[in-house]
Order: sequence, then structure tokens, then C-alpha cells
Amino acid sequence: MHEIPTFDHRTLGQRVMFGSGQATTHLRSAVHDLSATTPMVVAADTDHALADSVLGDLDVAVRFDDVRPHVPIDQAEQARHLARDSGADLLISIGGGSTTGLAKAVALTTGLPIVAVPTTYAGSEATNVWGVTEAARKTTGQDDRVLPHTVVYDAELTRTLPRELSVASICNALAHCIDSLWAPRANPISAALSVEAVRALAVALPEVADRPDAIAGREQAFYGAYLAAVAFASAGSGLHHKICHVLGGRFDLPHAQTHTIVLPHVLAFNAPCAPAAATRIAAALGVADPVEGLRTLLKSVVAPTALRDVGLSETDIDEAVELILPVVPDSNPHPVSRSELSRLLHNAWSGES
Ligand code: NAD
Repeated sequence: MHEIPTFDHRTLGQRVMFGSGQATTHLRSAVHDLSATTPMVVAADTDHALADSVLGDLDVAVRFDDVRPHVPIDQAEQARHLARDSGADLLISIGGGSTTGLAKAVALTTGLPIVAVPTTYAGSEATNVWGVTEAARKTTGQDDRVLPHTVVYDAELTRTLPRELSVASICNALAHCIDSLWAPRANPISAALSVEAVRALAVALPEVADRPDAIAGREQAFYGAYLAAVAFASAGSGLHHKICHVLGGRFDLPHAQTHTIVLPHVLAFNAPCAPAAATRIAAALGVADPVEGLRTLLKSVVAPTALRDVGLSETDIDEAVELILPVVPDSNPHPVSRSELSRLLHNAWSGES
């Protein structure tokens, strides 16, 4: 029997409405239940048609569509002004993590509730974490005001995601659950969610990549992405997220692809020192060796493998090491030396195992 350690887990209160092809109905119901009459919609101009299909004939007060990666403070301020000037009583975000992130930035200062309609597997909709970028520095924080009140998942909305982005986004979700197993606040509840998320995402990844017309894989992907994000919100950022936060923030690398590339390297580094987590990841993947299992899974969907292919220069690695070392969580099962971190990043840069 497993020993249950002393732990401190927080469950975030949120309504989750799940149903393929039902986003419009579920959104209408969520808006009605919140008694909102003047919603402001946040959706990128490139996702306009997708947003229109979700909104149907819902009465909308105003729309904000200047969505950019990493929530630049200028866009956040413009959206905040628009929310105040229009008298909005609700934020509806329709899009990926960048769109949810912008709605969160507005909620942070206005206190408006959010109904989030995600269209990628980034998982921001299930966390109380916000982030804003100013002068090339991304500041993040936790605040329950930014946790969406309701999430509307509709797998049909992911059909338009290009294959490469689907693959990277599902791997981003896999990173949430795998890294949660050794993150600072990891606990039996977050671990249970993580393991089920790994199982669902491992099924979803090849399904979505190879059978894009089938909806079942996309549903598994949303289900797994939600569990993964809940586990991440509970357990906090582990070594993997600290590495990716530095790489994305300082060197402007693409979010989901960076997570995809770094994840097998962090797993290979930590697994020998985290036998219980390694055993559970292996079982969830249905393999004997979690590192080989993850590598095989990623290879089967032709996931990106090298940071040099997504914009990192080899000469950036020394600076990255110095930025990451001070933020390595004490909870990491494998002590992290400068030389080991440098080797990990060089391997992730070149794509070597
Ligand atoms: P993204 O939101 O930047 O979207 C990537 C691209 O995909 C965009 O061009 C977008 O318009 C497009 N897109 C989105 N959905 C689409 C669809 N269904 N069909 C076609 N195109 C579509 O990328 P992302 O990976 O979803 O989110 C990354 C961001 O989310 C990062 O800034 C990251 O920091 C943040 N994030 C935050 C949290 C949190 O808890 N706060 C968690 C995860 C990610």
C-alpha cells in the first residue's frame, strides 16, 4: 500500500462544460447563468471566423482582436480601457493560450468574470496564473480573479489547428502533467490527475496527428489538457517549466514547440531520481521505460526535436543556464549542476538524446 504523505492541495472552483459541436449552446447557457448582458469578446483577428461560429447570434457589446503572444502590456491596457469604456460585465475569450492570457490580464484589473472557449490544448483556462510582458520581460502571478468562471470545451473548434500546432499543443499539455509530478507543490491529488492526463494525451496525440477527421482523439486531447492544467495549477512549475519560461521569455521561442522539444530531456534527466513518478508515467504510456516511451511517441508524430530549429542560437545557451540555475525548484528530484543543465540544453538544442 502506498503511504499518503502530508500534503496541501487547493482545488480551484470552476464550471466545465464539455461537448463537441455544442460551444454555441453552452456559451449561451454560461452567459445566461452569469446574468451578463454586455459581454466583451476577446478573440484574435486571425481566429475571427472561428469566434463568429461560436458566438452565433449572441448579443455582444464590444470585441477586442489585437491578440499577440505573451500578452504585451500595451494590448492589455487597450483591452482594459475598452472593457471599462464599454461597461462590459463579462469577458468571453475564444482562442488559444495567448487569447485566454489577454482576457486574464483584463480580469486582473477589472475583476470581470471570464467564460473561456479554448481552441488549443495550452490549458491556461484551468489555471489562476496570469502573465504580462513589459520591456521584453514577462511577469507572472497567481490570482483567483483571473481563473475563468466557466470553460466551454468543444473539440470541433480544434479542427482548424494545423497539424504541427496540434502536435506541439498536445505535447505542451503532456509537459504540464509530467512536470507536475515533481513540481514544488506536487501531491497525491495532482499526481492522480497527472497520470490520467498522460494516459489520455498519449492516446490523443497519434489520433489527432494521423486521423485529423476523427473527433474522438480531439476530445481526449481536451480532456487530458484540462486535467494536466489542473494538476499544474495545483503542483506549480517544475524544472521543465522553469527552463521553458526562460527560453520563451528571454529568447522569444514559440511556446508549445519549446515545451515539446525540452520535455524528453527533462524526463530523461529526472526519471532515474524519481522512480515512483517514472513508474507511473510508464504505466500511463503503456510502456516499460518512460523515457524511451515518450521519445517513441514523439517520433511517431514527427514532433519537433531541436531548439536550433525554433530560433535558439548555440551561443545563447550559457546565458540561459545562468538565468535558469537560480530558479531551479528545490523539489527537483535530481540536483541540477551548471554542467548538467548546460549539457541538457545543448542536447535539446541539437536534438540529440
Ligand atoms: P497561441 O494562443 O499563441 O496560438 C497559436 C496560434 O494558433 C495563433 O496564431 C492562434 O491564432 C492560432 N489558433 C488558435 N486556435 C486555433 C484553431 N483552433 N485553429 C487555427 N488556428 C488557431 O498559442 P498557445 O500555445 O495556445 O498558447 C501559448 C500561450 O499561452 C503562451 O503565452 C503561454 O505562456 C500561455 N499559457 C499560459 C498558461 C497559464 O496557466 N497562464 C498555461 C499554458 C499556456
